[in-house]
Amino acid sequence: MFFKSSKINEFRLWGLLLTMFGMGLMVLGTAGIVFWGQSGKIIAGIGLAIGLIAMLASLAVYFWAGMLSTSAVQLECPECHKLTKMLGKTDRCMFCKTILTRDPEQATITAEELEQQAAASTMNE
Ligand SMILES: [Zn+2]
Repeated sequence: MFFKSSKINEFRLWGLLLTMFGMGLMVLGTAGIVFWGQSGKIIAGIGLAIGLIAMLASLAVYFWAGMLSTSAVQLECPECHKLTKMLGKTDRCMFCKTILTRDPEQATITAEELEQQAAASTMNE
């Protein structure tokens, strides 16, 4: 995990970064022909090839994220009460970034305890 976000959101971010990278390389490659003429064509060719691979890789990442999200479990986040999806046993909420787990061994607090805490804090206000 590189970013403090849910796994699905992270996959989407990497897909987007790869697309931007690929497009940037293709634009730079094409610009190479304009700036360096004949010798720029080699740079353009390399740029276009790597750019195309990056674009294909981003497609694969998007496809993979799509496949993963179909197997993701949809649940209501106990913290912000929005419908979120989680991958695996632990993941972050897509909205409030709270770490959620379905593994009772790893949970520090249960949904019931959280609700009791929330109820207690509203009573104190
Ligand atoms: Zn949440």
